[in-house]
Amino acid sequence: MGPGPVNAHPRVLRAMSADLLGQFDPEMTGYMNQVMALYRPIFGTHNRWTMLVDGTARAGIEAALVSLVAPGDTVLVVNFGRFGLLLGEILGRIGAVIETVDAPWGEVVPLDAIAAAIERTAPKVVATIHGDTSTTMAQPLDGLGDLCHAAGALLYVDATATIGGMELASDRWGADIVTGGLQKCLGGPSGSAPITISDRAADHIFTRRHTEAGIRAPGMVDGSGPRIGSNYFDLAMIMDYWSEKRLNHHTEATSMLYAARECARIMLGEGLEARYARHAAASRAMSAGLRAMGLTLFGEDAHRMTNVTGVYIPEGVDGDRVRTAMRETFEIEIGTAFGPLAGRIWRIGAMGYNAMQHKILITLGALEACLRMEGYRLPAGAAVTAAIEAWRA
Ligand SMILES: *Cc1c(COP(=O)(O)O)cnc(C)c1O
Repeated sequence: MGPGPVNAHPRVLRAMSADLLGQFDPEMTGYMNQVMALYRPIFGTHNRWTMLVDGTARAGIEAALVSLVAPGDTVLVVNFGRFGLLLGEILGRIGAVIETVDAPWGEVVPLDAIAAAIERTAPKVVATIHGDTSTTMAQPLDGLGDLCHAAGALLYVDATATIGGMELASDRWGADIVTGGLQKCLGGPSGSAPITISDRAADHIFTRRHTEAGIRAPGMVDGSGPRIGSNYFDLAMIMDYWSEKRLNHHTEATSMLYAARECARIMLGEGLEARYARHAAASRAMSAGLRAMGLTLFGEDAHRMTNVTGVYIPEGVDGDRVRTAMRETFEIEIGTAFGPLAGRIWRIGAMGYNAMQHKILITLGALEACLRMEGYRLPAGAAVTAAIEAWRA
C-alpha cells in the first residue's frame, strides 16, 4: 500500500508469462496496434501517436523532453514536488534554459501564476506533473494547453502516478505529450511507459529530424533545434517503428507489451468511470479512517490525488519503526517520504489493484495496531468504521 510499485493484477502477471513473438510477426504487430487503440481512451485522446516507450516511466519523460526540447530552448517547469525537480534535472542535461513557477510542497500552482510565468519567460515548452506522488497533490490542468498554445509553447504532462486512477483528459487539457507508467494505478510492473503525442508535437519532432538531415520539411519552423540528442529516446524513430512503416528501431519489449495491453484491457473492461470512482472511494475511505484515528492529513484537501494519501507521523512516534512493524507483522508496505517531508509524513497508496475496500480496511486496522504497539493512544476501531461509511458515501 505504498505509492508504487504496488501489487500487479494477477491477469497482468499471467499475460506476461506468454511466449515471445518475432517483432514483425503479424500477431505481434497486431498487438502493437491494439495497444495504440487501447491507450487512447485511457489518455483521453484521439491522438494517432499513442504507444509505448520501453523503459520505466522515466524513459517516457526523457523521450518526451529530449525529443521536444533542443539545447538552448527555454522550458517552464511547473514545480510543486520532487518530480518537478526531476523534470528540471533532465532538462538541465539537455541544455535547456530552465524557468520554474513554484508552489510549496502540499499545494499546487494556480493557473494565473502559470499564465504570468509564460508571459514572463516565453517558453518553447511548458512541463508539468499531473499528480506528484511526493506531495500527493494533483495539479489542475484544464485550460493550460490553450494558454501554452496561445503563447506558441507546447505542453508536456507527466501522468505516471495518475494514469489508470484519475481521469486523464489529454485532448481537453490541450496537452501535447502525456506519459505514464504501469506500476502505479494501472496495476502492472514498472518497465513500460505509455505515451501520447499530439499531431502538433509530432510535427515539431519530425521537423527537427528533417532539419538534422538537411531536408527542408514543408512548413518547417525557422530556428528548429539541432538533432535529437538520443537515439533510444528519439520519438521520431519510435513513431516510425509504431507506424505502418515498422522501421526497426529497438526490439519492442514483448512481455512488457503483453503487460501494458492487459493493464489497459482490464481498465477498459472495468470502465473508466467505475475505475475513477473506485479510486475516489478508496481515497475517501483512507482519509476518513486516518482522520478517525486522530491523525492529520498532509496537503490541501481540494487538490488531493485520489490514489495516495499523505499523513503526518504523530508527535513522539518513530515513522520508520511503524513502517517496519507494518511490514513484519502484517506484510503491508506503506510509503516513506522524500526531501522536506522525510520523517514527517507517511504516504499510503491505494492504487490500481490495491484500491479495494478490504485492502483499505486491513491497512487501517494494521496501522492502528502498529501505532498502539508504539504506545500511541487512539480510539479503538474508529478508523475501520469511518472508512466503511466513507467508502459508501
Ligand atoms: C513514480 C513516478 C515517476 C517515476 O517512475 P519510474 O517508473 O520509476 O521511472 C515519475 N513521475 C511520477 C509523477 C511518479 O509518480
